[in-house]
Amino acid sequence: MDSLRSALADAVGERFLTSDRDVLASRATDHTGRYSGRASALVRPADTAEVSAVLGICRRAGVKVTVQGGRTGLEAGTVPEHDDVLLSTERLTSIGDVDREELRVTVGAGVTLSALQRTVAAAELLFGVDIASRDSATIGGMVSTDAGGLHTVRFGHMAAQMLGLEVVLPDSEIVRRRRRVSAENCGYDLPALFAGSEGTLGVITAADLALHPVPAHRVAALAGFAHLSQLIEAVRVLRRLDGVDAVEMLDGRGLELASSRLGFAVPTKLPWYLLVELAGAWDRTEELAGALERCDPDDEPAVGIDSAGRARVWAAREAFAEVVGLFGAPVKFDAALPLDTLAAFVENAVALVSNRVQGAIPVLFGHVADGNVHLNVLRCPDESVLYHPVAELVRDHGGVIASEHGVGTHKRNYLDFARSREDIAAMWAIKRAFDPDDYLNPAVMFPDWVRQPS
Ligand SMILES: Cc1cc2nc3c(=O)[nH]c(=O)nc-3n(C[C@H](O)[C@H](O)[C@H](O)COP(=O)(O)OP(=O)(O)OC[C@H]3O[C@@H](n4cnc5c(N)ncnc54)[C@H](O)[C@@H]3O)c2cc1C
Repeated sequence: MDSLRSALADAVGERFLTSDRDVLASRATDHTGRYSGRASALVRPADTAEVSAVLGICRRAGVKVTVQGGRTGLEAGTVPEHDDVLLSTERLTSIGDVDREELRVTVGAGVTLSALQRTVAAAELLFGVDIASRDSATIGGMVSTDAGGLHTVRFGHMAAQMLGLEVVLPDSEIVRRRRRVSAENCGYDLPALFAGSEGTLGVITAADLALHPVPAHRVAALAGFAHLSQLIEAVRVLRRLDGVDAVEMLDGRGLELASSRLGFAVPTKLPWYLLVELAGAWDRTEELAGALERCDPDDEPAVGIDSAGRARVWAAREAFAEVVGLFGAPVKFDAALPLDTLAAFVENAVALVSNRVQGAIPVLFGHVADGNVHLNVLRCPDESVLYHPVAELVRDHGGVIASEHGVGTHKRNYLDFARSREDIAAMWAIKRAFDPDDYLNPAVMFPDWVRQPS
């Protein structure tokens, strides 16, 4: 241990190596506070060369490494299980010049989403992925989890924003893939492979990202529905509109909690609400009003909400992340289902929750245009009562158990609910080709039966 410590201190500098037990205990616990593990050290390299040196030292010493970005992940992907060395990307914060001609920028993996947003806004551009954890979530973590978020209906997940990346492989080699022209097909799409790899294949140190012009006009609407099936029919219409920028499903109970938390009123009388936003070069208020009329909501939708009203409904939407924590850590499900089965799944899941856990409160929301639904169960101290049966429900309704948060350590033993054994074996073959020692993020993604065959 002493020789490992001194080699790591030589690589990153004594100041950036920590073995303080309190610091390690807090770093080994995830954002929700529900999951924790054990770590032997925390290293904070300053650049790509130092990341490479740290990986080389740990691999040669036979020590496992868990990568940490902003630690906002919701599937315990940063929770170490083997007294790991924690490798934090928090010092990889360089931001290159914004290329306004090619609409791109290169940023370090430790740059937070909000820092990126501020930089590109100054150049009158925007980045296509936005998530409520923007002040802490890092670009490296977002690439690794292939984060989705509020505008996936328009821009897709992180994989769709990637023009190139720099990554340190488990053998310490540094690979830089930079695409200078958009027409290019020279071999494997490595950046795509790393999007969603959750730190199992290498440490991302920088990414080249696509940018977009800021739309001149935005119009939002909030429409209420008595039945989820009606809301889903509306989603089918609205997600195909020109300029659609967001289609968010919110349940009335969550909106009520959010509005009382924020101290201002938003409509909450109906069980289901749809927050829709269109954006573009011209004002689309009339198009949105016309489309909503065809969807026949159960209240008069507030269309073309002025900027203060628009800010209010978005604040209420974003407050869901906070209100689900009102009664302690909720049990969280990050599912995606085909629109055809989504309403039946929700009905069955809500019934299952109320049968199994007295007093539990299900709160639902999601980026519904892509089938995403977050089920948060409040007042449920024992996750084990619900996790398996709800995961089975997701699978039995044709859905997947990871929509945008990834698999992490938390859901690894549910991977075969979404992927066939052959598929998992193919992914494992890729993992072994990159990391034959299985020392990088060794608790993430792969089920125990892959790592310890009986
Ligand atoms: C309030 C709130 C709202 C959220 N909303 C959304 C949402 O709408 N959509 C969404 O997709 N997610 C959402 N999330 C989840 C979370 O913010 C995302 O998963 C985010 O992408 C994680 O980024 P991070 O930097 O915090 O990564 P971390 O939590 O630090 O890490 C996540 C995983 O990536 C790995 N990793 C991190 N950095 C690197 C790197 N440089 N190289 C290799 N591996 C790495 C880690 O080992 C871990 O397995 C939300 C979370 C919160 C708390």
